[in-house]
Amino acid sequence: MIIDAHVHAFDRGFFPPAFARATALRWRHAVWPPRPAGALTPEAVEAGYVDPDGRLLAGDLEAAGVDAAVLMMLDHGIGLGEEAPVARDRILEYYAGLAARYPGRLYFFVGVDPRRPDAESFLRRAAARGARGLKLYPPDGFPCDHPAAVALCRVCADLGLAVMFHTAFVGWPFEGDKANPLALTAVQKAVPDLVLLVGHAGYPLWGPEAAAVVADHPGSYLEISQWQDLLDQDPGALVRVLADFRDRVGAHRIVFGSDHCSGPRFSGARSRLAAWVRFVRDLPETAGRYGRRFTREEVDLILGGNMARILGLAAPA
Ligand SMILES: [Zn+2]
Repeated sequence: MIIDAHVHAFDRGFFPPAFARATALRWRHAVWPPRPAGALTPEAVEAGYVDPDGRLLAGDLEAAGVDAAVLMMLDHGIGLGEEAPVARDRILEYYAGLAARYPGRLYFFVGVDPRRPDAESFLRRAAARGARGLKLYPPDGFPCDHPAAVALCRVCADLGLAVMFHTAFVGWPFEGDKANPLALTAVQKAVPDLVLLVGHAGYPLWGPEAAAVVADHPGSYLEISQWQDLLDQDPGALVRVLADFRDRVGAHRIVFGSDHCSGPRFSGARSRLAAWVRFVRDLPETAGRYGRRFTREEVDLILGGNMARILGLAAPA
């Protein structure tokens, strides 16, 4: 069974308008000369992310041979200083609706900024609507060990929910330094019974830090999305990163994730999901080329066995 522990789908109005404005600016200025304003508008950015009924996501998962995936909700309102046009409860209904439309195929983690006064009641509402965990996004401006984040982790442990922290460095308009996974040691200490997913495994600045944090806490896991950015430039480097993670924490504590977004800009022929799944699946045959070794059993745990255990879909192997 192949499970993608980290995917996204959105409908129109799910992001604060500031997100599309900043993304359009970033993408236009990523090349020289900059693309003119009319070539990439905030409206065009948002239109690229829209998947109202999850059909594009379902198609991408199917094409990649992924059996089940976990949707991550985001809440950038405080971080970007501007609320999304669509209310949080309606966004929650969208994810609960997708999970209901694709039973056994789509699960979701609720996203809420822990600094919101109603964060805990929103989390409890989401749990009642079927959320399997909580996604926290520190680059919105709080460190992983912010007291409000730790308090929500305590609630999740009591409710039997997992928590995923985003730990990839991400630049403007976010505060990427807040994602440093070293601060998770304080969370593990405060909530030792937490099931903690270290989202993006510290990509690209903090891989060894993420692995060190996961290694000593039995309830923590590395989630490896975004590292596939190395796939085209240097597959050997990617094999070595994954083998180092395995050596440090064990294959039983790594979960496959892609951070795949559905939408006209990312789905169908543009989807990179199948290539990433294939790369991990083929590691037992290919890793030797780069002087490393993976067994089929290890890859089975990474690709789905561990996440099935976390989601309660399978008995522990
Ligand atoms: Zn993500």
